[in-house]
Amino acid sequence: MTTAERSTAAATEPLLEVTNLVRHYPVKSGLLQRTVAHVHAIDGVSFSIARGETFGLVGESGCGKTTTARQVLLVERPPEGMVTFAGRDLATLKGRELRRHRRDVQAVFQDPYSSLNPRMRVRDILMEPMVVHGMYDRGRRRERVGDLLRIVGLNPHSADLYPHQFSGGQRQRVAIARALALEPKLIVLDEPVSALDVSIRAQVLNLLRDIQKNLGISYLLIAHDLASVAQASHRVAVMYLGRMVEMAPSRPLVTEPLHPYTKGLFAAALPPDPRLARQLPAIQGEIPSPINPPSGCRFRTRCPAVMDICSQAAPVWKEVKPGHFVECHLY
Ligand code: SF4
Repeated sequence: MTTAERSTAAATEPLLEVTNLVRHYPVKSGLLQRTVAHVHAIDGVSFSIARGETFGLVGESGCGKTTTARQVLLVERPPEGMVTFAGRDLATLKGRELRRHRRDVQAVFQDPYSSLNPRMRVRDILMEPMVVHGMYDRGRRRERVGDLLRIVGLNPHSADLYPHQFSGGQRQRVAIARALALEPKLIVLDEPVSALDVSIRAQVLNLLRDIQKNLGISYLLIAHDLASVAQASHRVAVMYLGRMVEMAPSRPLVTEPLHPYTKGLFAAALPPDPRLARQLPAIQGEIPSPINPPSGCRFRTRCPAVMDICSQAAPVWKEVKPGHFVECHLY
């Protein structure tokens, strides 16, 4: 399947749908632990991921991307809004359906050093999820360990080694193999290469792309580096202080970012086109507290294009071009 065909397929088969997700965490204080405020972790987040699609979620630390991933992984039940996966409402899952979801959606985290048990051989690390979910008999599990290691580009004989006997990049390959063990439909990739040497980041991202091509898996790719996420994703959403501010297919997002925050992220990063960096205003100042976000547009305290209306009214989420959405009074 070519990239264009994959993008078309991606656009037509929603696997995950997140609709108007809201998550506020109470801030407690005093002897009686009374709720004195709320952290607005996410406020009205909506997106979908198609089968075989990579959807990137980008923003600074504290923007709400990890909170969004926690709802998708069902670490927390979505309290407001709706998350459906393969047509099933996650808020209602229990019993067999819940176990099925825990198989279908896997995660790979930033730090392979801490996500793999140092006292377990790789064989046991890869077999453990299959045992927990009662998948396959013992002989087939052992065969699958070899298959999984081959898929991630490691020698099947390395199943007898411990995590510390691998390099950082190899350890992340083991983490990817473990995520694949349960034949998931979606993998949440939370900063999957940011702890690795720059020289091996591209190798791991290429491996993930090849796995997707061969197995048709979807990815929710979470990271702070907009340029590299855009390169690895079919579509990207940019988050700021709990809100999605822009969403578009990767190419128009890179060549023609609309939101002042997206432009600022490209200016701060190494952009795909160096001329773009010179044209884009960098972001100034600190991210405001999510306990008391600014009125109107949440980005107004740092926006180089701020206008009077930006403090008075929240901008509306608009489709400016086909598939290219933005939340800003400039559009
Ligand atoms: Fe800037 Fe106003 Fe647009 Fe917000 S709505 S990003 S403050 S121009």
